Amino acid sequence: MEHSEPNKMHPVEAGPSASIFEKEDPITGLSFVAWFFSQTQKDPSIYPLERSTITFFNVMSFKTINQRFSYQGGNKYLCKFRDELQKLFEGEKVLRAGADHLVVISLNLSVEEIALRIKLLNKAMSTYEGGLRNQIKAGIYIADGTPQQPIVMMDRASLACREVHGFFNREYAVFNDELRNKYEQKQYVLEHFDEAFEKGYFKVYYQPIYRALNKKVCGYEALARWIDPNRGMISPLIFIEVLEKVHLIHKLDAYIIDQVCKDLRNDIDSGYAYQPISVNLSRLDFELSDIKKVVDNAVAKYNVPKEYIVLEVTESAFASDLSNLGEVISAFRADGYQVWIDDFGSGYSSFNNLQTYDFDFLKIDMNFLRNFDKTPKSKVIIASIVDLAKKLGIHTLAEGVETLEQYEYLKQIGCELIQGYYFSKPLPIEDFHTRRTDLCDFTTNETPKERLYYDGIGRLNFLENTPLRERKLEIASEIPIAIIEGENRKYRFIFVNSAFKDIINLFGAGTPNEVLEQLYKHGPSDLPSKRYAALLYSERHHKTIEFHENFGNVKLLSRARFLSRMDNKVAYAFVIKLL
Ligand code: C2E
Ligand code: CA
Ligand code: CA
Repeated sequence: MEHSEPNKMHPVEAGPSASIFEKEDPITGLSFVAWFFSQTQKDPSIYPLERSTITFFNVMSFKTINQRFSYQGGNKYLCKFRDELQKLFEGEKVLRAGADHLVVISLNLSVEEIALRIKLLNKAMSTYEGGLRNQIKAGIYIADGTPQQPIVMMDRASLACREVHGFFNREYAVFNDELRNKYEQKQYVLEHFDEAFEKGYFKVYYQPIYRALNKKVCGYEALARWIDPNRGMISPLIFIEVLEKVHLIHKLDAYIIDQVCKDLRNDIDSGYAYQPISVNLSRLDFELSDIKKVVDNAVAKYNVPKEYIVLEVTESAFASDLSNLGEVISAFRADGYQVWIDDFGSGYSSFNNLQTYDFDFLKIDMNFLRNFDKTPKSKVIIASIVDLAKKLGIHTLAEGVETLEQYEYLKQIGCELIQGYYFSKPLPIEDFHTRRTDLCDFTTNETPKERLYYDGIGRLNFLENTPLRERKLEIASEIPIAIIEGENRKYRFIFVNSAFKDIINLFGAGTPNEVLEQLYKHGPSDLPSKRYAALLYSERHHKTIEFHENFGNVKLLSRARFLSRMDNKVAYAFVIKLL
């Protein structure tokens, strides 16, 4: 919902097409909220708006419903939506606010009572066949008893609604002081960023990055801060979004890149131990500027080594890759810069990105760590990401590490780099300088030689059962593994891996199944596997059976374990080892 239309609020003559200032919406038959507000402004005694609660409803992806079921289908959906609201909020005002927005203005309903109705609404709408299981989100504004512009009240309800748009598990939000603050801050940013640029209020803070294995500093991430003389520090979480919206983010990022190269040059010149520095790029940097040129120019201006500049690109940047993002990333890497993927696992297309683009490092989204203590699943997910990254030859970093326990876990699973409050918050560069006792302190800082050394070590995958195998982007295990299926005492391989094939080949030409058949037909009658096959066949427990067999000079140790049974069919896993 854009907040512009109700601003132009004034009653208009009824024309041939419906206007939101008319009394009645031809589709739902409901009164338009703008019309209702104009009435209350004419005569406040008709409704005590100052004591009311406004609940603003928004249908998620209503467009899809229209596309799928045509406009008639969309209109039908709205009518069903209206019916449900009128049932659930009987006696309250149900109004239309244009597009896919309906509004309930109520008296005497608590937030809990409204929340329950929102839940019931979604339940009812989710079974409606013309609804594609769409979610309906809501924002609630509770008037504080003083007369206010109705449009401001509506705006706040809609703003609260927008807070939950991206969250599948949240149906509603209430406009509160925090939201008011955020909204107000964004407004401030919008009105003052020109001045902030001019007066140099933007500053770079650096957060150190540590090597998990030795706890030495091996990099920094540059994070933008707005130090405002009136308001103190303004978070990038507030201003980045605004700067992106008004298409000025590339200006800030160019400034940050320039500062980073300047600081790096200073450190090199003054003999400090220096490390690669990461800068965050916005998707829009690729669209609004020639970002490669911006970085190249800064690097040339301060004559800093390209290997010491890292470009962090968030996963979400790839979501709508209409630009030449992929090409630019390749160009950066070909030139010797590092490119890292940021917030990995936060979006919809994480795996797609790994398939399409090449990265040096993968930064695991810190939300997995936020759930570290809440669910053991988060540990499994983090470990799987590390495992996957190593198989693809990408290094891993975990950010947002806040506790010793998290750090220990990450080290255990072979995550190479760590960043987070547990080690250090982002700080202005001066703090690092005053902190240092020795200019080039290599007891706390990694040397370039150490970096290469640990990069090599970091490739080892602790989570794999064949950690020593040379990595060639192959996924097969080095252990000979097979799955045998037995049916009425007849056996055949339904899966063999390449290591298993190699061993089977020792027994002569032919497919594994041919070899198996030969063995059973002509092999000695006291062949242990014949005996064990019978045992396994009747085995219902998931127990591992181990047996030795000699075929001429070849000595084999076999292990078999029951996997599954279906009628007369039994499947077991089979692992062999040459002795
Ligand atoms: P990000 O790139 O994911 O940066 C990490 C954020 O996590 C930073 O927030 C950092 O201060 C915070 N953080 C670090 N350690 C911890 C921890 O242990 N616990 C918690 N809870 N948080 C931790 P910050 O500095 O507020 O930056 C927020 C976001 O703003 C960044 O997320 C990045 O996406 C964006 N950003 C920051 N600076 C720039 C910039 O210069 N350009 C662009 N385009 N985006 C930037
Ligand atoms: Ca980042
Ligand atoms: Ca991040």
